Amino acid sequence: MGRYLGSSCEQCRREGMKLMLKGVRCETAKCPIEKKQRNLAPGMHGWRRGRSSEYGIRLREKQKVKRYYGVLERQFMRYFHEAERIKGNTGENLLQLLERRLDNVVYKLNFAPSRKAARQLIAHGHIYVNGRKVDVSDFTTNIGDVITAKGSEKSVKRIKQQLETNPNFTVQAWLQLVREKPEATVVAMPARADVQIPVEEQLVVEFCSR
Ligand code: SF4
Repeated sequence: MGRYLGSSCEQCRREGMKLMLKGVRCETAKCPIEKKQRNLAPGMHGWRRGRSSEYGIRLREKQKVKRYYGVLERQFMRYFHEAERIKGNTGENLLQLLERRLDNVVYKLNFAPSRKAARQLIAHGHIYVNGRKVDVSDFTTNIGDVITAKGSEKSVKRIKQQLETNPNFTVQAWLQLVREKPEATVVAMPARADVQIPVEEQLVVEFCSR
Protein backbone atom coordinates (compact mmCIF):
# COMPACT_ATOMS: atom_id res chain seq x y z
CA MET A 1 0.00 0.00 0.00
CA GLY A 2 1.28 3.47 -0.84
CA ARG A 3 2.10 5.95 1.86
CA TYR A 4 3.15 9.57 2.13
CA LEU A 5 6.92 9.86 2.54
CA GLY A 6 7.28 13.64 2.82
CA SER A 7 7.56 15.86 5.87
CA SER A 8 4.66 15.70 8.34
CA CYS A 9 5.25 19.25 9.53
CA GLU A 10 5.00 20.55 5.96
CA GLN A 11 1.51 19.10 5.81
CA CYS A 12 0.52 21.08 8.90
CA ARG A 13 2.14 24.22 7.54
CA ARG A 14 0.23 23.81 4.26
CA GLU A 15 -3.06 23.56 6.17
CA GLY A 16 -2.01 26.35 8.56
CA MET A 17 -2.92 24.32 11.62
CA LYS A 18 -1.67 21.62 13.95
CA LEU A 19 -2.66 18.21 12.61
CA MET A 20 -0.80 16.45 15.46
CA LEU A 21 1.05 14.07 13.16
CA LYS A 22 4.22 13.65 15.22
CA GLY A 23 3.03 12.68 18.68
CA VAL A 24 4.96 14.21 21.60
CA ARG A 25 6.81 16.79 19.46
CA CYS A 26 3.47 18.37 18.51
CA GLU A 27 2.92 19.39 22.16
CA THR A 28 6.28 21.13 22.45
CA ALA A 29 7.66 24.51 21.38
CA LYS A 30 9.56 22.69 18.61
CA CYS A 31 6.35 22.52 16.57
CA PRO A 32 6.81 24.90 13.58
CA ILE A 33 3.21 26.07 13.91
CA GLU A 34 4.14 27.45 17.36
CA LYS A 35 7.01 29.41 15.83
CA LYS A 36 5.43 32.35 14.07
CA GLN A 37 8.15 32.82 11.46
CA ARG A 38 7.93 29.15 10.39
CA ASN A 39 4.16 29.07 10.34
CA LEU A 40 4.08 29.60 6.60
CA ALA A 41 3.01 27.34 3.78
CA PRO A 42 5.97 25.26 2.56
CA GLY A 43 7.90 26.29 -0.54
CA MET A 44 9.57 29.53 -1.60
CA HIS A 45 6.26 31.38 -2.02
CA GLY A 46 4.83 30.20 1.28
CA TRP A 47 4.52 33.76 2.61
CA ARG A 48 2.19 34.63 -0.29
CA ARG A 49 -0.88 32.94 1.10
CA GLY A 50 -3.50 34.92 -0.81
CA ARG A 51 -7.29 34.74 -0.78
CA SER A 52 -8.53 31.31 -1.77
CA SER A 53 -11.14 30.62 -4.45
CA GLU A 54 -14.31 28.68 -3.63
CA TYR A 55 -12.61 25.64 -5.10
CA GLY A 56 -9.45 26.28 -3.06
CA ILE A 57 -11.39 26.51 0.21
CA ARG A 58 -13.07 23.16 -0.43
CA LEU A 59 -9.82 21.55 -1.56
CA ARG A 60 -8.07 22.62 1.65
CA GLU A 61 -10.88 21.17 3.82
CA LYS A 62 -10.60 17.84 2.01
CA GLN A 63 -6.80 17.80 2.23
CA LYS A 64 -6.96 18.67 5.92
CA VAL A 65 -9.15 15.64 6.72
CA LYS A 66 -7.13 13.34 4.49
CA ARG A 67 -3.84 14.33 6.08
CA TYR A 68 -5.18 14.28 9.62
CA TYR A 69 -6.22 10.64 9.28
CA GLY A 70 -3.20 9.76 7.11
CA VAL A 71 -5.07 8.33 4.13
CA LEU A 72 -4.19 8.72 0.47
CA GLU A 73 -6.49 10.10 -2.23
CA ARG A 74 -7.86 6.85 -3.64
CA GLN A 75 -8.58 5.43 -0.21
CA PHE A 76 -10.20 8.71 0.86
CA MET A 77 -12.52 8.60 -2.14
CA ARG A 78 -13.43 5.00 -1.29
CA TYR A 79 -14.50 6.21 2.18
CA PHE A 80 -16.46 9.03 0.59
CA HIS A 81 -18.39 6.69 -1.72
CA GLU A 82 -19.08 4.35 1.19
CA ALA A 83 -20.31 7.34 3.25
CA GLU A 84 -22.68 8.27 0.41
CA ARG A 85 -24.21 4.80 0.48
CA ILE A 86 -24.92 4.95 4.23
CA LYS A 87 -28.19 6.56 5.32
CA GLY A 88 -27.87 10.04 6.87
CA ASN A 89 -25.52 12.98 6.54
CA THR A 90 -22.69 12.05 4.14
CA GLY A 91 -20.13 14.34 5.80
CA GLU A 92 -20.78 12.92 9.25
CA ASN A 93 -20.77 9.36 7.86
CA LEU A 94 -17.40 10.05 6.26
CA LEU A 95 -15.88 11.33 9.50
CA GLN A 96 -17.35 8.40 11.41
CA LEU A 97 -15.83 5.88 8.99
CA LEU A 98 -12.43 7.55 9.35
CA GLU A 99 -12.73 7.62 13.15
CA ARG A 100 -13.47 3.89 13.19
CA ARG A 101 -10.20 3.02 11.44
CA LEU A 102 -8.07 0.77 13.63
CA ASP A 103 -5.04 3.13 13.56
CA ASN A 104 -7.23 5.98 14.81
CA VAL A 105 -8.71 3.80 17.56
CA VAL A 106 -5.24 2.64 18.69
CA TYR A 107 -4.12 6.29 18.78
CA LYS A 108 -7.21 7.43 20.66
CA LEU A 109 -6.64 4.73 23.27
CA ASN A 110 -3.14 6.16 23.75
CA PHE A 111 -1.60 2.81 22.77
CA ALA A 112 0.60 4.91 20.43
CA PRO A 113 1.68 8.59 20.49
CA SER A 114 0.44 9.36 16.95
CA ARG A 115 -1.59 7.78 14.15
CA LYS A 116 1.66 7.12 12.29
CA ALA A 117 3.09 5.26 15.29
CA ALA A 118 -0.22 3.40 15.62
CA ARG A 119 0.06 2.25 12.00
CA GLN A 120 3.54 0.90 12.71
CA LEU A 121 2.34 -0.90 15.85
CA ILE A 122 -0.43 -2.54 13.84
CA ALA A 123 1.78 -3.42 10.85
CA HIS A 124 4.26 -5.09 13.20
CA GLY A 125 1.52 -7.35 14.54
CA HIS A 126 1.28 -5.95 18.07
CA ILE A 127 -2.49 -5.39 17.93
CA TYR A 128 -5.21 -8.04 18.20
CA VAL A 129 -8.92 -7.49 17.57
CA ASN A 130 -11.29 -10.04 19.12
CA GLY A 131 -8.35 -12.34 19.81
CA ARG A 132 -7.02 -12.33 16.23
CA LYS A 133 -4.06 -10.47 14.81
CA VAL A 134 -5.03 -7.54 12.60
CA ASP A 135 -2.10 -5.99 10.76
CA VAL A 136 -4.00 -3.60 8.49
CA SER A 137 -4.50 -0.04 9.72
CA ASP A 138 -7.65 0.57 7.69
CA PHE A 139 -9.56 -2.22 9.47
CA THR A 140 -12.96 -0.71 10.38
CA THR A 141 -13.86 -1.33 14.01
CA ASN A 142 -17.40 -2.10 15.10
CA ILE A 143 -19.37 -1.94 18.33
CA GLY A 144 -18.30 -4.82 20.56
CA ASP A 145 -14.80 -5.20 19.10
CA VAL A 146 -12.18 -5.89 21.76
CA ILE A 147 -8.73 -4.46 21.08
CA THR A 148 -5.77 -5.93 22.93
CA ALA A 149 -2.01 -6.16 22.68
CA LYS A 150 -0.51 -9.33 21.28
CA GLY A 151 0.00 -11.88 24.08
CA SER A 152 3.78 -11.49 24.05
CA GLU A 153 5.52 -9.72 26.92
CA LYS A 154 7.18 -7.30 24.47
CA SER A 155 3.88 -6.05 23.00
CA VAL A 156 2.16 -5.67 26.37
CA LYS A 157 5.17 -3.86 27.84
CA ARG A 158 5.37 -1.48 24.87
CA ILE A 159 1.72 -0.47 25.16
CA LYS A 160 1.82 -0.22 28.97
CA GLN A 161 4.87 2.06 28.72
CA GLN A 162 3.00 4.32 26.32
CA LEU A 163 -0.05 4.40 28.62
CA GLU A 164 2.20 5.37 31.53
CA THR A 165 3.50 8.42 29.64
CA ASN A 166 0.17 10.10 30.30
CA PRO A 167 -1.70 8.65 33.31
CA ASN A 168 -4.33 11.44 33.13
CA PHE A 169 -5.23 10.67 29.52
CA THR A 170 -9.00 10.39 29.13
CA VAL A 171 -10.45 8.04 26.57
CA GLN A 172 -13.45 9.20 24.53
CA ALA A 173 -16.85 7.86 25.57
CA TRP A 174 -17.24 5.52 22.57
CA LEU A 175 -14.23 3.52 23.78
CA GLN A 176 -13.74 1.73 27.09
CA LEU A 177 -10.22 1.04 28.31
CA VAL A 178 -8.93 -1.28 31.01
CA ARG A 179 -5.40 0.07 31.49
CA GLU A 180 -4.12 -2.82 33.63
CA LYS A 181 -4.56 -5.47 30.90
CA PRO A 182 -4.40 -3.37 28.57
CA GLU A 183 -7.69 -4.06 26.78
CA ALA A 184 -10.25 -1.80 25.13
CA THR A 185 -13.78 -2.24 23.80
CA VAL A 186 -15.65 -0.20 21.22
CA VAL A 187 -18.92 0.50 23.05
CA ALA A 188 -20.57 2.94 20.62
CA MET A 189 -20.17 4.59 17.26
CA PRO A 190 -18.04 7.77 17.38
CA ALA A 191 -20.15 10.93 17.47
CA ARG A 192 -19.45 14.13 15.51
CA ALA A 193 -18.15 15.73 18.72
CA ASP A 194 -15.46 13.03 18.98
CA VAL A 195 -13.75 14.39 15.87
CA GLN A 196 -11.03 16.64 17.27
CA ILE A 197 -10.10 18.53 14.13
CA PRO A 198 -12.07 21.69 13.23
CA VAL A 199 -13.51 20.80 9.85
CA GLU A 200 -16.55 21.78 7.78
CA GLU A 201 -17.46 18.37 6.45
CA GLN A 202 -20.09 19.87 4.13
CA LEU A 203 -17.28 21.54 2.14
CA VAL A 204 -15.49 18.19 1.86
CA VAL A 205 -18.68 16.62 0.54
CA GLU A 206 -19.12 19.46 -1.98
CA PHE A 207 -15.53 18.99 -3.18
CA CYS A 208 -15.81 15.23 -3.53
CA SER A 209 -19.20 15.41 -5.29
CA ARG A 210 -18.00 17.68 -8.12
FE1 SF4 B 1 4.86 19.07 13.06
FE2 SF4 B 1 3.19 18.08 14.94
FE3 SF4 B 1 3.54 20.68 14.74
FE4 SF4 B 1 2.23 19.35 12.85
S1 SF4 B 1 1.56 19.63 14.95
S2 SF4 B 1 3.76 20.96 12.54
S3 SF4 B 1 3.34 17.42 12.82
S4 SF4 B 1 5.12 19.18 15.27
